[in-house]
Amino acid sequence: RAYNFNAGPAALPLEVLQNAQKQFVEYEESGMSLMEMSHRGAVYEKVHYETETLLRELMSIPEGYKVLFVQGGASTQFAMVPMNLLRAGTTAAYVATGSWATKAIQEAKLFGDVAVAASSEADAYKRIPAAEELKLPSNPAYVHLTSNETIEGTQWTDYPDTGSVPLIGDMSSDILCRPVDVSKFGLIYAGAQKNLGPSGVTIVIIREDLIAKPEGAVPTMLRYDTHAKADSLYNTPPTFAIYMAGEVLKWVKANGGAAGMAARNNEKANLLYDTIDSSGGFYRGFADAGSRSIMNVTFRLATEELEKQFAKESEAQGFVGLKGHRSVGGLRASIYNAVTPENVQALAGFMRDFQSRNG
Ligand code: PLP
Repeated sequence: RAYNFNAGPAALPLEVLQNAQKQFVEYEESGMSLMEMSHRGAVYEKVHYETETLLRELMSIPEGYKVLFVQGGASTQFAMVPMNLLRAGTTAAYVATGSWATKAIQEAKLFGDVAVAASSEADAYKRIPAAEELKLPSNPAYVHLTSNETIEGTQWTDYPDTGSVPLIGDMSSDILCRPVDVSKFGLIYAGAQKNLGPSGVTIVIIREDLIAKPEGAVPTMLRYDTHAKADSLYNTPPTFAIYMAGEVLKWVKANGGAAGMAARNNEKANLLYDTIDSSGGFYRGFADAGSRSIMNVTFRLATEELEKQFAKESEAQGFVGLKGHRSVGGLRASIYNAVTPENVQALAGFMRDFQSRNG
């Protein structure tokens, strides 16, 4: 298998893929694939509710929250959040931390008043603003933050306390990478395709008091109350993606849960950041040290030519997905939950070797 450092869709645990392969044609002696089954049947419903139960257990989701499986990716949540929660006379507050926060802001502006509560744009989005920097508008509907900026490689460590104002988190690229206090949030959303499974399902964790009839005309499928009332079975859900997410969650549980993932991810991230920091300036981390992501490690080399050479040579040696996003340049190693410590060790070895040949 390739050394897969793709930013998303991303590596899945090998055991999960192998087990799914075994069950692909016939799911548990049912005479058919899970993909061929009715979403109203008992076999699929068991998978559906088991996936939800496991997510609740692994994220310690408190009572009073609904877990929804929806479609359209996190990008659709950029619209659904303001469509459902932004009401006349209120302002949506966003923390501008990078590329994905900016997309969320642009989308929210289609639906009402938006204020930027804090921004690191002046620092090229190399850092996460401190909680004290947040300035809320007078009547805030909610505060939205991007837990991990996948492109810049920055991540929140301590989420701000927003009091009675609901905090909304886009956790697409770091959900379940470590324990998180869900009770700090009014709503969390995440596309599954990095830490939770294949693309096609989006997870929404929403506090029940925020589930209400939206103002104005909102399409039925874009209302949280539609999916909450129907346990995410209002229409045909992405059954195979939900099944795969459940299998990934079983793997997370078998590997120590959220705390186990945090230990594994910190070890992997530390190894890469140590390799960067001990390179005498050959490699330069993009993100400020205090804002570094344990999911996406972004770094640069002295020249773009050398970066191109790194990308080319690493690819020839079986490393996939290391070229940085075009908006930031440089290189990026995405080391989501399923990326093995062995693969990260192999990358650190390649980095040292590349330096010794080009330093
Ligand atoms: N938010 C973040 C932080 C992301 O990393 C991504 C995708 O990479 C998205 C949102 C968009 O997700 P989707 O492609 O599921 O719409």
